Amino acid sequence: MTLLIDKSQRPESTRFQDARAIAIQLNALSDRYESLSPTEILADALQHEWFDNSAVVSSFGAESAVLLHMVSQVAPELPVLLIDTGKLFGETRQYAAQLQHRLGLEDVRHVAPRRAEIDEKDPLGKLSGTDPDSCCALRKTIVLQRALEPFGSWINGRKRHQTDQRSLMSIVERDGDRIKLNPLANFSHTDIADYHRKYELPDHPLISKGYRSIGCFPCTSKVGEGENPRSGRWPGLDKTECGIH
Ligand code: SF4
Repeated sequence: MTLLIDKSQRPESTRFQDARAIAIQLNALSDRYESLSPTEILADALQHEWFDNSAVVSSFGAESAVLLHMVSQVAPELPVLLIDTGKLFGETRQYAAQLQHRLGLEDVRHVAPRRAEIDEKDPLGKLSGTDPDSCCALRKTIVLQRALEPFGSWINGRKRHQTDQRSLMSIVERDGDRIKLNPLANFSHTDIADYHRKYELPDHPLISKGYRSIGCFPCTSKVGEGENPRSGRWPGLDKTECGIH
């Protein structure tokens, strides 16, 4: 497969040295991916040098099986990182084990906050109720930053339809000194549902209980029919993202 990016122009590592040139190349790659399916994007990207040291980041939530199934078809050996905040539903851990087995994912890694940091900053485990941004920083953002240190790029399952903020994302983005791939950017609710059906993927056990977007238990609520699934995250707060994106 032809690589879009001229390798002679690449830095020795994925640490960016020429931001403008990289931005142009990222935009070109992103534009080309607009006409490809998510699986085609994934397969193409993983042959590209920018993605030769990638990890998938998954919440193993309501729609996660779709991207994970695609990964299992293209590169089941890819590391898959699950941020175990210490506040996950037990059902999410069960679902992670189920999907890992069912899809044949070879390298699922549970990454967690350090005990000492939890003891210092959230000893009572109630920070989510008083300062959710700090809680997400402690239990998610910092954890992911550490977990991604060995990797030059990462892949996630965000979709443009989910939030106003996500509607603007490119399929390939710069994320600090890494590259981030959003292969499902153009997938709709219907696309997700159709893909689930086509490959008979198992549902997260909380779907049948009325949950549509599933994160940590203190910050996730059930969502009514016809409501945006993301409205069940941090309900009542002006917060739509945990900060890892
Ligand atoms: Fe804390 Fe809630 Fe963020 Fe989870 S989603 S890290 S419990 S604030």
